[in-house]
Amino acid sequence: MEKKRLVQIIIFILIILGVFFFVPKGPVVEDSGTQTVMGTFARVIALGKHRDVSKRAIEHALEQIRYIETIANVHDANSEISEINSLACLEPVEVSDTLFEILKTSVDYGRLTNGAFDVAVGPLVDMWQKAGEANQPPDANQIAANLKEVDYQKIYLNPVDKTIRFGADGMKLDLGGIAKGYAVDRAIEAMKNYGAVGGLVDIGGDIRCFGTPANAAKHWSIGLQDPAKNNRNIIVLKLDDTAVATSGDYRRFVLVGGQKHSHIIDSHTGQSAEQLSSVSVIAPKGVDADALATAVSVMGTDEGLKLIESIKNTDAIIISPAPDYRLTATAGAEKYISKSRTKVNIYKPQND
Ligand code: AMP
Ligand code: MG
Repeated sequence: MEKKRLVQIIIFILIILGVFFFVPKGPVVEDSGTQTVMGTFARVIALGKHRDVSKRAIEHALEQIRYIETIANVHDANSEISEINSLACLEPVEVSDTLFEILKTSVDYGRLTNGAFDVAVGPLVDMWQKAGEANQPPDANQIAANLKEVDYQKIYLNPVDKTIRFGADGMKLDLGGIAKGYAVDRAIEAMKNYGAVGGLVDIGGDIRCFGTPANAAKHWSIGLQDPAKNNRNIIVLKLDDTAVATSGDYRRFVLVGGQKHSHIIDSHTGQSAEQLSSVSVIAPKGVDADALATAVSVMGTDEGLKLIESIKNTDAIIISPAPDYRLTATAGAEKYISKSRTKVNIYKPQND
């Protein structure tokens, strides 16, 4: 009897050990928590076979994001972009491969969007910033004077010696509409290189995910902020190996005379873009999603969504301004929506 009991106990222990050693264990998830970078909040999640792989992947991702910040920060007088802004109207300035790539992509988006995305928007950004501080909207003369200095077509890029030269005095580049998306891509590449099997990078609403999702989920779940209410999602997306960038007037704005003005500026008129409350663009890469979300905010529903429809593997979800907050998505965006608080209208291109 005693012996039988002992055998039973040994079998039980062996079963427990078997379960422990032989049931396949999923990858280990690490989460950076909230980090302050690029003037906003960022978060990195990594999944690796072992904890140290996930941790290392996060460290390298954050390192890349901080590197892009040191290049692209217009508020730092010593950054590479500030050096260009102060010298490129005098002579060609040699730049790093990274900045050259960001500027080349920016100018390409200037062409594609007919200037709705204009990386040379700096003087207008400064003008609206000052308007906010003085609580006084800019007058027509001020707007006209600043508009003269804004034109992406006057950025001359020389791919042979990697130099940048401005074609007019007073020009100032601003990478606020593209640098976060670019940094998200660099961070994702770093995570893959350091062995992560899945991950997500979010820099102030510019998000990209890849590989195995966290929490044994089927897809990565990404909530889009409701412009009508803080800390509430209006839509939840299910994504795999994709980026989504959101531009919204509720995120950052300038207050002038009690009125909100979007931080996105129409470089043809000098006025802040007020046609849409929120624009989310879904694209394979963060840099493209970021530039396009800014551009569509300026272009508005018809012109903007027509452009998005013409680009492969790229979709958008837009929200009209208050009080309607009407949701419209390109037909291809429907497959990404897992939950929605309100009805989503599918965009039908108008015949022109
Ligand atoms: P995002 O949040 O990506 O839409 O970027 C907005 C930021 O991009 C602004 O804070 C400016 O720094 C910059 N920006 C504003 N208007 C434009 C524009 N028309 N084209 C490119 N960048 C812009
Ligand atoms: Mg953008």
